[in-house]
Amino acid sequence: MPRPTTIEINLSALRNNAMVARSVAGGAKVMAAVKANAYGHGLIPCSRALEEVVDGLAVAICEEGITLREAGVTKPILILEGPFDAGDVQALSEHNLAPVLHAPHQLELLEHAGAALPSQVWVKVDTGMHRLGYAPEEVPATIARLKKRGVSHVVATSHLADGEDPSAEVTDRQLLRWRSLAPQLEADAASFANSAGLINALAPECEWVRPGIMLYGAAHAPLAGDSTLEPVMTFQSQVMALRSIPSGESVGYGGRWVAARPSRIATVPVGYGDGYPRSARDGTPVWVGGEICPLAGRVSMDMITVDVTDCPGCEVGTPIELWGRHLPVNEVATAADTIGYELLTRMTDRTPRAWRT
Ligand SMILES: *Cc1c(COP(=O)(O)O)cnc(C)c1O
Repeated sequence: MPRPTTIEINLSALRNNAMVARSVAGGAKVMAAVKANAYGHGLIPCSRALEEVVDGLAVAICEEGITLREAGVTKPILILEGPFDAGDVQALSEHNLAPVLHAPHQLELLEHAGAALPSQVWVKVDTGMHRLGYAPEEVPATIARLKKRGVSHVVATSHLADGEDPSAEVTDRQLLRWRSLAPQLEADAASFANSAGLINALAPECEWVRPGIMLYGAAHAPLAGDSTLEPVMTFQSQVMALRSIPSGESVGYGGRWVAARPSRIATVPVGYGDGYPRSARDGTPVWVGGEICPLAGRVSMDMITVDVTDCPGCEVGTPIELWGRHLPVNEVATAADTIGYELLTRMTDRTPRAWRT
């Protein structure tokens, strides 16, 4: 019998979440973010499942867009970081990919390629995140230039720096700049909201929304109303060994966890070599056959240890969930000083995955 550690990807939950995003977005078109291997869930199976429910797929780089086209995806594909070089510009036209342009040198790359410009181009406006994007005052002329060159669908877009905190001051500044710019633009459409913008209803109404994390059921907060988002990834295993240790004995590398009472420790064959975070503190929740038990001791490359003293039914073979349908990934992330996005996207290939329709 192989190691029982597996990753299950629930594609019907993914589709359900996309329908929920669609309904929260009102009439807006949905550009689903599937960058970074669909947030670690598998680029191609997830994109195939989403294609039926959304209006387009967003990836970070051309290579990801080409992979999707080669897999037969026909929906619009948006390249969020736009072209890096002339080879990327070539790939845009060859594979019918729509770029986001964030700086003048990218438009020059497109113009110097000699071919027709893509029929759809997004222009990124830096409203206050200050990572990428044209300064607001550069945007009207940039869009006018694209329209003059025959681009038929120009989308003005911006990204929230702190959408998860509804009272963040940076959001006010971003919205103010966006609202004063919008009337000057000849764009055909606009796009502001990511998942947090949609969930917190922060963004102005736009023709396109760009949800990512909510599609995978790992948003920072629940939705208002009756709709629920279901976790798509379940990371699971089973207890491989159990031992009783007297108080005063330590468990695992560095002796970080010390038994304060006679304790039962379950060892589980999953570790940072699979993507379970080494930064997880003692007490990080682990689902053990229906109960939440605390992680006890440092995460090893191939194993973790869990204090199951208060879970007397636990035995070798008891099912374990690291995160997923019973335990939100964000709870584990918080206990490991990170965010669900990071845990999901850095799963390793060692763990077998199964995609369930
Ligand atoms: C990743 C990304 C999104 C999706 O963000 P979520 O927080 O996952 O909803 C939207 N827009 C841009 C520009 C992105 O890079």
